[in-house]
Amino acid sequence: MKTELLNFNHLIRAAEIIQEGGLLGIPTETVYGLGADGLNPVAVRSIFQAKGRPQDNPLILHIWSANWLERYCEDIPDAAYRLAERFWPGPLTMILKCKKRTPQELEALRTGPVCSRTHFGPRIIPDVVTAGLDTVGMRCPAHPLCRMIIQMAQTPIAAPSGNTSGRPSPTTAQHMLEDMDGKIPAILDGGPCEVGVESTIIDLTCTPPRLLRPGGVIPEQLEEVLGRVKVDPAVTRQLGKGEKPRAPGMKYRHYAPKAPVTAVKGDPERGAAYIREHLSHTRWDGVICFEEFLPLFVQAAGPVLSLGPAADQAEQARRLFDALRAMDTTDVKHIWAQCPNDSGIGLAVANRLNKAAGFHIVEV
Ligand code: AMP
Ligand code: MG
Repeated sequence: MKTELLNFNHLIRAAEIIQEGGLLGIPTETVYGLGADGLNPVAVRSIFQAKGRPQDNPLILHIWSANWLERYCEDIPDAAYRLAERFWPGPLTMILKCKKRTPQELEALRTGPVCSRTHFGPRIIPDVVTAGLDTVGMRCPAHPLCRMIIQMAQTPIAAPSGNTSGRPSPTTAQHMLEDMDGKIPAILDGGPCEVGVESTIIDLTCTPPRLLRPGGVIPEQLEEVLGRVKVDPAVTRQLGKGEKPRAPGMKYRHYAPKAPVTAVKGDPERGAAYIREHLSHTRWDGVICFEEFLPLFVQAAGPVLSLGPAADQAEQARRLFDALRAMDTTDVKHIWAQCPNDSGIGLAVANRLNKAAGFHIVEV
């Protein structure tokens, strides 16, 4: 199969792929997603296959607006609507209770006609989307092309990030093509992603609400709407043996380039000096540093990439996955990366970088 690159002139074709149960690379404001009709279990199963994603790692459903929530969810707390009002469309995923099927609906299924979209699960959303959980991640994305596809296909689109499982998420159509060429019919090119890291995930099925993954909507913004928010321990540290992750995805190695990464945290100037001191002057060592410290590494034999200015965490979010992927095109055997502190969207950048580093972090 040759993977086509589509653009805004091919929206009808793109929406047809979804309707026909195919896989589509979709631009969103966070990262590119690998989308399929979220109500078609056969289509959703092929997402897992194309990515090599473990079956127990559930997907997020992308909807047109908060008005669609009641079709798929129940016991929706008022907080969900307040969050939607403030942050949707945008980079926020809410974990909510799945809507159960009524006995009448189940009976009608047993006796009615069957097609590829039919599934016999106890909930409206097929189990393959939620990995059998009774909760589901719901997001209303902001990217105009993604919104057009949802509107035209008239279905919630199940989509994880469009990378091969374990690799850095794609933030351009070209990155997604690197991973998915020959595996899916098409990728819709919507330009580089504005946020650059995946959505914030907030679990609204517990009290207080729990931040499962930091992203473009920062904890301080959530707290303005929700009051207290608990940050899940897995966001900032590696879970110990016997600790059960609250989001199934938390237990997998993530975002990782081929070479091992050491994340260097703390004062940026001291961090850059630390890297310069410990860098082997061979081409096997790569560096990802804040822009102002590039001059420190002019003598480095290996690749040196900028993560953006130390104070501009939004730019760091846009560049991180790009930089990790760029390192994969070199033959480095070790990557030193400067890591921002946990304020603002820095929490999301640090979270991805720490996971890419397998929590191999040096504090300076
Ligand atoms: P990805 O889009 O590849 O970043 O993956 C989606 C993320 O959402 C994964 O980390 C999942 O574990 C998480 N997720 C999806 N549904 C749920 C759910 N019902 N409860 C907790 N986490 C979820
Ligand atoms: Mg992912």
